[in-house]
Amino acid sequence: MISEEIKNKYQLVIGLEVHSQLLTNSKMFASDGSEYGNSPNTQISVITLGHPGTLPKVNIKAIEFAIKMGIACDCEITRLNIFDRKNYFYPDLPKGYQITQDKGPICVGGKVPIKLADGRNKEVQLNRIHMEEDAGKSIHLNDETDTLVDFNRAGTPLIEIVTEPDLRSAEEAYAFLAEIKKLVKYLDICDGNMEEGSLRCDANVSVMLKGSKEYGKKVEVKNMNSFRNVSRAIEHEHNRIIKLLEEGKEVVSETRTFDAATGKTSSMRTKEDLNDYRYFPEPDLSPVVVSDEWLNSIKNSMPVLPRELHKKFVEEFGLPDYDAGFLTESKEIALWFNELCTKTKNFKSASNWLMGPIKSYLNEQNLSISDFPISIDSLAELISLIDAGKVSFTVASQKIYPEMLKSSEDSPNKIAQKLNLLQESNESSLKPIVEAVLADNAAKVAEYKSGKKGLMGMFMGQVMKKSQGKADPKVATKLLTELLQN
Ligand code: ADP
Ligand code: MG
Repeated sequence: MISEEIKNKYQLVIGLEVHSQLLTNSKMFASDGSEYGNSPNTQISVITLGHPGTLPKVNIKAIEFAIKMGIACDCEITRLNIFDRKNYFYPDLPKGYQITQDKGPICVGGKVPIKLADGRNKEVQLNRIHMEEDAGKSIHLNDETDTLVDFNRAGTPLIEIVTEPDLRSAEEAYAFLAEIKKLVKYLDICDGNMEEGSLRCDANVSVMLKGSKEYGKKVEVKNMNSFRNVSRAIEHEHNRIIKLLEEGKEVVSETRTFDAATGKTSSMRTKEDLNDYRYFPEPDLSPVVVSDEWLNSIKNSMPVLPRELHKKFVEEFGLPDYDAGFLTESKEIALWFNELCTKTKNFKSASNWLMGPIKSYLNEQNLSISDFPISIDSLAELISLIDAGKVSFTVASQKIYPEMLKSSEDSPNKIAQKLNLLQESNESSLKPIVEAVLADNAAKVAEYKSGKKGLMGMFMGQVMKKSQGKADPKVATKLLTELLQN
């Protein structure tokens, strides 16, 4: 264990490489399906397998998805796109090379804003986003020496998002990944599922003495299949590298693999036995030119981004930053809320319903908002019932809302009527009740008039009791005050 004091001498530096599998129907260069989870080797044409005489053809949808991500991250979009061959031998790579982009990524530069737990905002600079095809999958069965290969994934379109060495803690890396996941889901270009491998992350980690201008030697860590494991791997490397330096040992530039069971990393290969990939331009594909017209049509088809909705919720709806953050966390919730706000003008109440009762219900039932039994119109009606003083929030949330969850047939108004829950906010029907209460408590009325103003609460309690909880407190207070002055 190294002490906090020693740890504090060093600055942690992290750069991430995030692979995101694109949600196209077919592969990057072939018409085979690219769906996840089908029986092994059922989505493999001769093109995917790289048989002699076959030719790749670019999937235009995949290009558009990459450009969308580039626009969302403020990247510069490359107009003349050339693909390259990266040559290496591996059993899950049927062609013996991977088509990727080496020197000319489709998106250059760019940035991703993140928000940290202490409220700090940071812009993470991107180096690039490039396109490539995925490899197949090697499967190692327990107790067997053979390796099985599933080529279904081979040729699936990927974008690789590469940051500058700009992240300074595991927390920042976590926040960056969460932001990327949110973005690809809003853009509908990737399902963001880390467990299924549609979002994968390699972490480059180094440390340098604080104040130093020169980065230390980095290691690259692979095989983390959750955000939490990325954090754990970074923390592990953080400690391991500092310990090496403190012992006067050298950091080896290498690729390491993370073991989730132990929380430790171990060396896979060092840079010395690094492959020479012999990159060269893919001769079987002509360049893909992104015209102004095409780029503009992609810009015009961009879905709304989380930061745009966040801004709208804060600036137009006057909501606290915290609410806007919660509401834009998932696209489905954000859009549901946005529509709700076309039906009610009490935005804060709408937000409270989502952050409170609705969130609890969805969590308990493990449902997404699209499965929520209450329609947007009904919730808006419930909010307006409260705002009009016809029911209290307590009655609405404890009596009406549970009925609405049980049956989507009845409107909140009908439920309130059926259960006799509508408040008496009508002065003329409430007045006899108030008068009766005062008549029944003549002695207390006299005390009140001689200065014991604290008795108001007691009168109010009596009115509530007599009206069976339906008296609108505001109207009852007004009537009591008036009648007690006489
Ligand atoms: P390589 O030549 O090993 O591929 P690159 O310069 O292409 O390295 O960077 C790959 C990734 O490593 C990028 O995400 C980058 O931000 C990150 N990176 C580069 N240098 C460092 C460093 N010293 N510490 C941490 N991450 C780094
Ligand atoms: Mg590199």
